[in-house]
Amino acid sequence: MKRVVIAGLGDTGLLVAMGVANAAEVVGITPKPALVSGQELGMRVARPDVWRAHYLVDFRRYRALRGVQVRHGLVQQLDLSQNAVTVRAADGAIETITWDALVLAPGVTNGFWRTPTLETREAVDTGIDTLASELASAKSIAVIGGGATGVSAASNLKEAHGATRVVLAFSQDEQLPGYHPRVRAAVRARLLAQGVELLPGHRALPPPGFTFDRLTRGAVSFSDGRPPLDVEVTLWAVGQTRPNTSFVPPQLLDERGFIRVDEHLRVRDTTNVFAVGDAAATDPNRSSARNGGYGVVAHNVRRLLAGQRTGLKSFRPTAHRWGSVLGIQRDGLRVFAPNGFAFRFAPFWVRNVLFPWIVSRGIYRGIDSA
Ligand SMILES: Cc1cc2nc3c(=O)[nH]c(=O)nc-3n(C[C@H](O)[C@H](O)[C@H](O)COP(=O)(O)OP(=O)(O)OC[C@H]3O[C@@H](n4cnc5c(N)ncnc54)[C@H](O)[C@@H]3O)c2cc1C
Repeated sequence: MKRVVIAGLGDTGLLVAMGVANAAEVVGITPKPALVSGQELGMRVARPDVWRAHYLVDFRRYRALRGVQVRHGLVQQLDLSQNAVTVRAADGAIETITWDALVLAPGVTNGFWRTPTLETREAVDTGIDTLASELASAKSIAVIGGGATGVSAASNLKEAHGATRVVLAFSQDEQLPGYHPRVRAAVRARLLAQGVELLPGHRALPPPGFTFDRLTRGAVSFSDGRPPLDVEVTLWAVGQTRPNTSFVPPQLLDERGFIRVDEHLRVRDTTNVFAVGDAAATDPNRSSARNGGYGVVAHNVRRLLAGQRTGLKSFRPTAHRWGSVLGIQRDGLRVFAPNGFAFRFAPFWVRNVLFPWIVSRGIYRGIDSA
């Protein structure tokens, strides 16, 4: 039987594994002991238990993953001439695994929010809880960064801790670059209605040598002579993302370290290597995690394994980022379409239709209860 190796079992690698599990022997390599999703990070810091219920899921609960070999380890090296990866397992053992098709889905590193480090389930849980309880006990919080993570964190922290002062500072004139103007306007209105204070045009100055990997305490300084902001705790979400591609040969990467792919999400200058998710250089928003990129890769890998050179699917990015920005809140879940219009699922529909039917059964093909 042909073998597919998947480097990274995050949001996209997991779905590719499910999509090829019936067609090949599948080996997924992951430094995390469970799906630690990159979605809804604002909810994760404000209401970790609600987040955990949907976004931190043991691999064995996914029915469509049965038969897939999940290795707890990190890909350290990729040898294109031998079709082989070298993996360092969590126990330190080194293993070489060969492939007929390889899928690269290693995502990005983003401060403490998302990391490529080997972790136990206990370490993942402790990290999430420690941060959330530090924020819960603060009387005032600054969130730095106007991207989806910063905006979502500010909104969810205010929603969870109503008496806490929450200030969102960002360097641009408007929050949510890359999103449709209607999304920006709707989210701004929501933040103001919640009582989040907005500081546009404020570029925060991080402490010297700071790598955005923890909270900071005390006043925040800004450039351009803006007065400092006196807060107890600061949460940094400044989008300094780095692709987790140190193990990928440099000739496969663009100048920023993202993986160069063609329209079929095949890595350029290769025949049997694909890339998907936040590390794949697909379009300006690198949006293959949310525009069905995992389905394109799973289909194309199946064609490749069946020896078919035609009928490959192409990836079609959208002009604007879309999806949920704020996550599940008291009044339900708003999902924004690429044209900026929002659809709100009321809490009843989130609980009884969206998660059990559309997400668990539709996208993940069945998830057993915890
Ligand atoms: C179904 C779905 C719905 C989504 N909905 C939304 C939405 O509504 N709103 C929104 O904003 N976004 C949404 N997203 C996108 C999401 O925010 C991120 O873009 C997504 O988490 C990126 O997935 P990824 O697999 O590229 O990275 P990750 O989920 O971060 O996974 C990468 C994994 O690879 C591991 N890794 C790193 N290095 C190595 C290595 N050397 N060897 C092995 N493993 C390694 C990492 O530790 C991590 O576990 C959605 C994504 C999906 C799939």
